[in-house]
Amino acid sequence: MILLATFQWKDQIPKINEVNTAFGLREVSSSNLSKIRASRFPEFDVKRPGDNFARCGTCDKYKELRKDAIGGFEQAMKWTRKLEKHLGIARAHREYYYAKRYYSQTYPDECVTIMHDKMDHAKTASPIFSHKNKELDALVKLPVSVTGMIAHGHSDVRYAHYGLDIFPHDSNYTIESMTKLLRDLEEPPKSSFRELFLGSGSTALFRSILKGAEMCKTSLDPQPERLVGATPLPPILNVQMDNAIGEDKNRYIFAFWSLLVAKRIFREVYVNFMIVGHTHDDIDALFGRWSMLLKKENFPTIPALMKSFMDMESIPTIPHLIEEVPDFKIFILGSILDKSEVLIGHTKPQQVKFYLDATGCPKMKYKLFCTDVEWLGEKGAGIKI
Ligand SMILES: [Zn+2]
Repeated sequence: MILLATFQWKDQIPKINEVNTAFGLREVSSSNLSKIRASRFPEFDVKRPGDNFARCGTCDKYKELRKDAIGGFEQAMKWTRKLEKHLGIARAHREYYYAKRYYSQTYPDECVTIMHDKMDHAKTASPIFSHKNKELDALVKLPVSVTGMIAHGHSDVRYAHYGLDIFPHDSNYTIESMTKLLRDLEEPPKSSFRELFLGSGSTALFRSILKGAEMCKTSLDPQPERLVGATPLPPILNVQMDNAIGEDKNRYIFAFWSLLVAKRIFREVYVNFMIVGHTHDDIDALFGRWSMLLKKENFPTIPALMKSFMDMESIPTIPHLIEEVPDFKIFILGSILDKSEVLIGHTKPQQVKFYLDATGCPKMKYKLFCTDVEWLGEKGAGIKI
């Protein structure tokens, strides 16, 4: 799991020692903390300058300004205050998600909270070999992207969609992934009905990719004594996704959420966008643990890769191979506002809400920050519905 660029291990020592003292334990030194980290928590690492992970530009900016503050202490304090305010909003954003996640696990009949994220794709190109040699390096690798989803409190909970790079990663791909997940949530859990890859293998290419996929069946949870049936979707959907304008935060995806309420699949849809560089959520951690494993062992085929993700933890991540991506953008053309009426300002809010008004017309409201009290979006409030 990657920790914030602002995170410093040495800053944690006073907090750790405070707890140690309260329990009558010895204080820990900085060198001992390094040893504990290396032996017990190797998967937790701080972002380093120049690494590939998305960093938070705001944090970087405030830190630089604080470092170079002209005018001494007062100026530096100003940037510290700004940084703390920003970190406070990021924390509130995470806590909002934790609250929704808890609510969804406790009251699954009322809402489903879905965390949706894509894994860094360089790690999952198939085949994967932990030790390289010239012969293997000469082989062409199949680029495989993995989209991970956690549907808290519902059906099999964890799902992963594997897709070849023949599909562009745009709104159509996100919508296909989300609709497949919603269809799966309406079906009986795979752990009960033991049907993985039902309807898969539509072409010779996909059939050969899925060769040997039966091995994944052994990774399902033990079959319950009494079969578990399907449960209907609850009235409220909460989605937690990347703040990526190309794939997740654009008018096509918004039209899709709106369609879900217009078709009365959900009564309300709430979308919470994660702040770049501040995600550190459950799916990040799950991907982090998996990528550690991928460095250690060989996974010569895509089903072997899928199985390794299923076996990694007690809750298996249900695999699915994306074989088709319908063109939602074309489907919605003609029904979506365009030209002078085109949706504007929608890239700014951190939260959006979709619902039907009293006349049955689908509407959208937004909050710039999750800490705002009021939903905005009425006429003149800066965003066109
Ligand atoms: Zn930040």
